[in-house]
Amino acid sequence: MRAEVSAQLLQDLHLVIDAGNRISAERGPANLLLASDANSHTARRQLLEQARQKTDNALVRLREGIITDSQLDRVLNVLASSRQQVDMSADQLARNYDNVQRAISAMMAAYDSFKAVLLNRASQMISDDPQLSGAIIRALVLCSLRDDAGRLGSHIIAPLVAGVPMPAQNIQDSERTLARMESHWEMLWFDADALTPQGNVAELGKEALTKLSGEGQLLVRRLITEGQSGVPYSMNATDFTLHYVKVLTPLEDWSNAYLNQLVGEFQQHTEPALGQFFVVLLIATLIVCLIAGIVLLVHLRVLKPLLEASEVVIALAEEKTETSLRRDCNVKELQPLFEAIDTLGYRLQERIALTRQLKHQADTDGLTQLLNHRAFTHYALSRLNKATASCRVFLILLDIDHFKAINDSHGHPIGDAVLVAVAETLAKHVRPDDLVGRIGGEEFAVLLLAPDISAVLNLASRLQQALRELQLPAGNGKAIRVTASFGVAEGGEISWQELLNNADSALYAAKNAGRNRVHCYGPHTA
Ligand code: GH3
Ligand code: MG
Ligand code: MG
Repeated sequence: MRAEVSAQLLQDLHLVIDAGNRISAERGPANLLLASDANSHTARRQLLEQARQKTDNALVRLREGIITDSQLDRVLNVLASSRQQVDMSADQLARNYDNVQRAISAMMAAYDSFKAVLLNRASQMISDDPQLSGAIIRALVLCSLRDDAGRLGSHIIAPLVAGVPMPAQNIQDSERTLARMESHWEMLWFDADALTPQGNVAELGKEALTKLSGEGQLLVRRLITEGQSGVPYSMNATDFTLHYVKVLTPLEDWSNAYLNQLVGEFQQHTEPALGQFFVVLLIATLIVCLIAGIVLLVHLRVLKPLLEASEVVIALAEEKTETSLRRDCNVKELQPLFEAIDTLGYRLQERIALTRQLKHQADTDGLTQLLNHRAFTHYALSRLNKATASCRVFLILLDIDHFKAINDSHGHPIGDAVLVAVAETLAKHVRPDDLVGRIGGEEFAVLLLAPDISAVLNLASRLQQALRELQLPAGNGKAIRVTASFGVAEGGEISWQELLNNADSALYAAKNAGRNRVHCYGPHTA
């Protein structure tokens, strides 16, 4: 990650230096415009506008957090006024030394204002990453060298344009710039290996040195000497500028190549680190996927069947014997468990069937298959509280008349057959929801819900009639006829025992009144 930070710093430095170089480079086309005549003016103005556009683009990139907006705005102001000065001077028909020199000085001031920002940013970078100080200083010196080399040419433009002898000030400025360039060279070659580490960059450095200190400086010195001695210049401003710009090109290329190489080196360091990071990330992702896969597999193969098995066990515990266990588990070790659960299910089904059978036997009268007294009472109690205003509860008690005489006359088995026939008749005539039971030797009961007493009395009459119509073979060719007495009472607010007593009272009344009739308890009448 450190290499990544360093690469980013160097990239920023590259952009700042590039902007500085653009400001310096803008002076070439400006000098050409200042040296233009009526014929060449328009074309050179276009060239200058293109150069200015490049400078502006380079400066705009610095707004993205590389230098502060206020610093940049200050530079842009100075640059704008320098451009204004160039345009004013270039627009004058008769160009004299003063106005050309003023324009050139303004352009140098524009670079100087940027240089302050450049140095400030570079010193920040060094404190951010001291290890980069050597590279940063070398890049600064290269940038400064490029500017000085440009200045050297610009120092002699005004006398060349105006065709005047070289003023002392220009000679002095040139000497000073040359001296600075000399010391820059020394600084750069002091650690030449670091500066020109690889083939192409080293070649460019050598070419820049040859061109600048050879061709470039010789040309400038020659023109200065000519300007000092008052002889006409052997080269006009346009030719000089066109020639001199070519001398500067290898230096610019060298500076760019050096910075590109620096950034590239640090990016190479970054990439392996990033590569390692992604490899670790990939391995971690694969491990997580593997664990997730194992968990899923265990879940599907083991946990899910176990959960289903546990649900089946719970269902069996709740006596839901129809629940079956799905057989899609192919884990061998779990098979005994599922077989055990199956056995449990079968045993439970048998037990439930048995329990039902026992309960039926316990509830049923063995002779008539009706509910016995205990079961009838049990179910009757649970129905009592179901009564509502529109669905009232009633109890009918009926007792076979003179049954003892039947036993006595035809024998007990025939008596039993009569009891069975009576029970069947009762069961046939009541509704499925009505409760019918044999609650005594020859005494039966019907509990039912009805909207009013008339429906109940109606049923009792129909039962009375049905029993009267029964004809049972007596064994001697004759038929046994039976009648029964009925007592009816209404439930509701009263207890079961009271209801039973009331129905019994009505039945007693029916017997007393001569049997074979229906009596009702209370205000109702039969
Ligand atoms: P009443 O009209 O007053 O009811 O006269 P009843 O003869 O029907 O009444 P009673 O109480 O005097 O006699 C009932 C008889 O029912 C006596 C008993 O032997 C007979 N009985 C009770 N249970 C059974 C049974 O399971 N089978 C047979 N065959 N007879 C039974
Ligand atoms: Mg009887
Ligand atoms: Mg009786």
